Amino acid sequence: MAGLACLLLAVLPAHAQSTVELGDGISRVDLSSQLRYYQDTTGTQSLDTIAHRLAQGEFVPLPQGNSALGFQDGAFWFHVRILNRSTDQLRWLLVQEYALSDQLDVYAHHADGRSFHWRGGDALPFELGRSIRFRHPNFWLDLPRDQPVDVFVRVRSESSMQVPLMLYTPTAFTEHARDAQLGMGIYYGILLALFFYNMVLWLTLRDASYFWYLLHIGAFGLVLFTLGGMGFEYLWPNSPWLAEKSVPLSICLAQIGMQQFTRTFLGLRERWRWADRVSLGVIAFYLLLAVAATQLPYRISTQIASASVFLSITWVAFTGAMIVRRGYKPAIIFLAAWATFLLGTALFTAVAFGLVPKMFITEYGKEIGSALEMLLLSIGLGYRYAALRNENERIVREARDQLEQKVDQRTSELSNALSQLAEAHGRLRESSQRDGLTGLHNRTYFREGFESLLSQARSGRQLSLLMIDLDHFKQINDRHGHLAGDECLRWAARVIGQTLRPHNALLARFGGEEFVVALPGMDLVTAATVAEELRQHLRDEPFFVQGQRIAITASFGVHAVDTQMRGGVEAALQVADEALYRAKADGRDCVRTSAVLAA
Ligand code: GH3
Ligand code: MG
Ligand code: MG
Repeated sequence: MAGLACLLLAVLPAHAQSTVELGDGISRVDLSSQLRYYQDTTGTQSLDTIAHRLAQGEFVPLPQGNSALGFQDGAFWFHVRILNRSTDQLRWLLVQEYALSDQLDVYAHHADGRSFHWRGGDALPFELGRSIRFRHPNFWLDLPRDQPVDVFVRVRSESSMQVPLMLYTPTAFTEHARDAQLGMGIYYGILLALFFYNMVLWLTLRDASYFWYLLHIGAFGLVLFTLGGMGFEYLWPNSPWLAEKSVPLSICLAQIGMQQFTRTFLGLRERWRWADRVSLGVIAFYLLLAVAATQLPYRISTQIASASVFLSITWVAFTGAMIVRRGYKPAIIFLAAWATFLLGTALFTAVAFGLVPKMFITEYGKEIGSALEMLLLSIGLGYRYAALRNENERIVREARDQLEQKVDQRTSELSNALSQLAEAHGRLRESSQRDGLTGLHNRTYFREGFESLLSQARSGRQLSLLMIDLDHFKQINDRHGHLAGDECLRWAARVIGQTLRPHNALLARFGGEEFVVALPGMDLVTAATVAEELRQHLRDEPFFVQGQRIAITASFGVHAVDTQMRGGVEAALQVADEALYRAKADGRDCVRTSAVLAA
């Protein structure tokens, strides 16, 4: 080994030589620009062979200084010569700022012949592969002053070949790590907050979209945690198997969550059946890939997973755009979210395939993009929930309005029917109180009316009663027929009614050709006067049958109800009837009162 170093230092041709000089005031150096590499496609060549290849100028600079070389076979050898001119900084930390390389071998050859070898990479348990417990493999280098040190780094990995090598002074590394951890803390803090916030929403709202959002965000967080090396550091430090499988597995899980979230959020099954089937197909693909990833080499499963993520995300963005075009508003936020995510992930994957150089925006593009995406999706969920709620409220309101309308309609129909019924009832009642022939009130109505007048009479108000019977009415029937008799009854009713109009009388047809009149507030004498008036009107008012005038007379019985009297309606009618009988007996066409009876 010592000989090797001498050989290197002695014969390294100028074009193969690239020395990084460290000095005072320098605290961190990106080695990419000075790094040269050689690909040992078989992965079997020894350090000595490699050193000869370097001496023969077979090492070449990184393409455009880009340390991301894509998925590669075999072992890659990197070389850089370091010359430390610093007066006090003799210890430096070499950091491989990529967490997923499987095997790292770092060789340092000093000019004085000393040589060192460290091993790292996630094929070893976490504790063993690094000088400082940190997610990126790192190694302390002692760099004596003014003595060149040749550093070889051999990398073998199933994952993408990314070798961003950095040199830090202890202070610079501490500061760098601090800032990086803060950034990570902010990012995962956002993710965790969104996760728990939406978990609470899911538990309370029970909307499936929230659940798939949780799966997506959780699995996506896991992907980044794994890619950043924290999965290996904190979750499975002693399981190189999981360190290897976690990337494709978490990618599959995140894609399943993302596709399911898309299906439920956009309501693909109802809105776009065909696309829903495609999404289900994508989900089936990732389920199969997840199962296969446990058996397949990391290289194959990760390449398939990473490449298909492009298609999967493009598909999600495409469906989102189509649903926006169909006028579903929440899909706009959805689309904006995926656009930010798409950009971030595209940048990251492009780095993995060595398409764009590694820098802050490309390296942390997926973190920035995904944090924005998750935030927007969370807002989108809220917006969607509000839209659903508004839609529900609208439906409920409409249903209520319709119900109210119906109730109003039914109510008015009912009140219509009720008023018709009341009208009919009124008519029925009226007709039950009326005599069909003359239109006067009937006997039943009279009894009721007279009853209440009687009760007034008992409290002192005077009340008189007239019984009227047409004289020899039978003869009219006999001579002129029943129709003429009916006509005569109507005529008599009219004459009596007109005569009584000023007297506030209660008039009824008592039966046959008999009429009865109650005269409230009248004593016997006044009532007799009214009876006399009636008698004369009937006598004088002409009644014609077939152009022939027929003389009509009537007899009257008058009775003033005794206010102390007992016995009610019947007794009063009885007395009035007796007076009437007296009138008949006295030759008809006259008025007789109950006073005469008493006499
Ligand atoms: P009096 O002077 O004694 O009262 O003799 P009258 O003929 O008037 O009395 P009577 O009681 O003998 O006859 C009453 C007649 O009235 C008998 C019946 O045929 C007739 N009559 C009763 N109701 C009606 C009716 O609604 N229409 C017609 N046309 N005749 C009726
Ligand atoms: Mg009679
Ligand atoms: Mg009669």
